[in-house]
Amino acid sequence: MWVRARLHIGWSDLAYGLWSCLHSAPRANLTRRAEAYWSSQDDTLACFSVRSGFDLLLQALTFPQDSEILFSALNVKGMIKIARRHGLVPVPVDLDIPHMGPSLEALERAITPKTRAIVVAHLFGTRLDLDGVVDLAKRHNLLILEDCAQAFDGHLYAGHPDSDVAMFSFGPLKTATALGGALLRIKDPALLARMRQIQAAYPKQSRGAFLVRILKFAGLKVVTSRPVFALIHRFFRAGGKDYEDSISNSVRGVATLGSNKQLRFQASDAMLALLDRRLGLWRDGSLETRAGTGEELHRLLGDRVVQPAIANPIHTYWVFPILVDEPRKMIRKLRDAGFDGANLPRSEAVAAPDNRPELAPEIARDALAKLLILPCYPGMPHAELEREANLVLEILEDDRQKQASDEPSSPTTNTAPSQPMPTAQEAGRIPSRTAG
Ligand SMILES: *Cc1c(COP(=O)(O)O)cnc(C)c1O
Repeated sequence: MWVRARLHIGWSDLAYGLWSCLHSAPRANLTRRAEAYWSSQDDTLACFSVRSGFDLLLQALTFPQDSEILFSALNVKGMIKIARRHGLVPVPVDLDIPHMGPSLEALERAITPKTRAIVVAHLFGTRLDLDGVVDLAKRHNLLILEDCAQAFDGHLYAGHPDSDVAMFSFGPLKTATALGGALLRIKDPALLARMRQIQAAYPKQSRGAFLVRILKFAGLKVVTSRPVFALIHRFFRAGGKDYEDSISNSVRGVATLGSNKQLRFQASDAMLALLDRRLGLWRDGSLETRAGTGEELHRLLGDRVVQPAIANPIHTYWVFPILVDEPRKMIRKLRDAGFDGANLPRSEAVAAPDNRPELAPEIARDALAKLLILPCYPGMPHAELEREANLVLEILEDDRQKQASDEPSSPTTNTAPSQPMPTAQEAGRIPSRTAG
């Protein structure tokens, strides 16, 4: 069984994390080194998580109650909840499928005199070109909060030069994970100082709690190794249980950072030590292999499968997303063939405020409903990627034919989803088969 995603951390890192729970360098040194990763300008804050940092940021900004925060319409649930808990109104800005970035028209429409900031997330390991958003946001005096949680790429990307805050996550499922931790780059020194001050009063996560986390993820790394995962899958199937609900829930349970009340912590010394190690050993360009594997699968799928965000200039393939009409059905078929496809359960399309239903992010919601993450990472041999691609294409073709025979009056090529979906050609990059 090819697992949906692999933990981006090695056994030696986990061992180092364990060791750091017993002994680590002085905290001040660890923090200083991590915070100087991109620049020596003292513009970066190490936090317990991106969500902790975002919560800290909103405390420091003290926007008036009912201020509106724009969100590019897809993000993790936690981020949206944090804004609400601060008495702010999250307002969605719908996306376009080719980039999964906020469309400028939607952005313009969403802005009111109460709008204070925009949170823009780079999704799936792609990097948006933010120039247009930045221009528009600046013209309206909005703070630009850049969510780079899925977009870590070493020194190759330190956030857009004009964003006010850029947030990088080293949470358990993220690239270069330290099983938690985040770096926030903050342009305004006064804002950074306020955040530092508030954070200094937080309790530190205990070494013991971090030790437990390391052990849990070591366990998860074993469970999600190919042979063990295949066994578990078989066991659940034999028992007639829904594997998705049973295993995934426990995996997800391990992977969350706990409830939102548990945000107001400082990272433990051990977590900082592990983060330091991950950053120190990181080689820029080391995501090229992963990106290469993604491009290989992309070529094998060709232009018959919709790949969201494919038109973005940079794609490091943190995950490999496709959009299909019936993801649950395809997930079942893929699993039977040894590919653990999955959805993104912790993501959410931001709901429109009650009094502005016209802002409902139809495209983002539809994309999330159709989203399927395919296993795709270095280590999967070409033959397996090919088998996976062929399987996906076969399932889609089957569905197409069934649809055609169910509705004899409609043309056989009618596969139009309920929302306007660009073909892969429209999404860019892929030369049309019929062109020329
Ligand atoms: C993971 C993620 C977060 C949250 O990061 P944590 O460090 O786990 O709090 C925020 N935004 C996006 C887009 C993410 O993928």
